Amino acid sequence: MALPDQNAVADQLAAFDAELAAAKSPRDAQSVRDRFLGRKNSVVASWMQLIASAPPDQKKNIGRYANDLKQAIEVRWTHYAESAPPSLPAGAVDVTLPGRAVLTGHRHPLTVVRDRMEEIFTRMGFAVVEGPEVEDEWHCFDALNMPAEHPARDMQDTLYLATPLPPLGTTRDGQALPRTVLRTHTSSMQIRYMQAHQPPVRIIVPGRVYRKDDLDLTHTPMFSQLEGLVVDEGISLADLKGTLLAFAQQMFGERSRLRFRPSFFPYTEPSAEVDVSCWSCDGAGCAMCKQTGWIEILGCGMVHPAVFEAVGYDAEKYTGFAWGMGIERVAILRYQVEDIRQFYENDLRFLEQFPI
Ligand SMILES: [Zn+2]
Repeated sequence: MALPDQNAVADQLAAFDAELAAAKSPRDAQSVRDRFLGRKNSVVASWMQLIASAPPDQKKNIGRYANDLKQAIEVRWTHYAESAPPSLPAGAVDVTLPGRAVLTGHRHPLTVVRDRMEEIFTRMGFAVVEGPEVEDEWHCFDALNMPAEHPARDMQDTLYLATPLPPLGTTRDGQALPRTVLRTHTSSMQIRYMQAHQPPVRIIVPGRVYRKDDLDLTHTPMFSQLEGLVVDEGISLADLKGTLLAFAQQMFGERSRLRFRPSFFPYTEPSAEVDVSCWSCDGAGCAMCKQTGWIEILGCGMVHPAVFEAVGYDAEKYTGFAWGMGIERVAILRYQVEDIRQFYENDLRFLEQFPI
């Protein structure tokens, strides 16, 4: 072995630096250090051993180079140990590390809107009831004063089920009806509720409904509605207007005003379409309300006596009102969503924009 000199010191230091830099773990680094500095079989130890057999005039130099190398490596090692993260025993947990964020979901925007509507109406004393989505024609149409020739019952608008389920209802003269449909509105549950309960009635019925619509920006074959029904003695149009105004002011803002436009539904008389003053411009006119200051949100009316007759209520004694609105429509307006299909595509890039 050649005797160490100044170049050998520089070479060993360069080798030490390179190996330490390549160390992948604290254990690797420690073994690099030991190879250069350890008491046995290390570079420094082997240089020290040379002293005994070296020519007398070289002994002092070898000792000095070995010492230079040792000190230089110790300086580097101290610096490395101070800057490297502390080594942990296998399986140990470093409690100082930042925690991993837990991925939590949140309510779907349609659920948020539905929950808000339910909250407002339950505070007014309404009960929330749900009903079957597969209905018989009687509950979906006949009992709601929509006779066999009514256009809504057309196969082009309504989804009829090919295989008749056991008849769920009967006609007024007691005949079972074989045809079943996917309900076109939640009003069918109002009929079921009235058949099972005597007035006073104060319910809301949220749920999915089905129409034979093609998918586009504003239509889907399935969407959700929230309907309401109040029946008691002495219920008037004033109760209808007051209830809906209280709802609008809690749902769309305290300054909300309502506008009633005469309309027609077979199961209410009189009937009205209801617009709420635009909550974006407060009625002044803007893009959202198409410069009209009003936004159409629901249909309503006083329950038609024929409906009371169908469920066996005394139409002379009781009056009531009902309304229905689309949950998607309200969500689209509130969140400025341009395409109704986004509600159903489960795309997180869309859903994560609703941090509720
Ligand atoms: Zn507006």
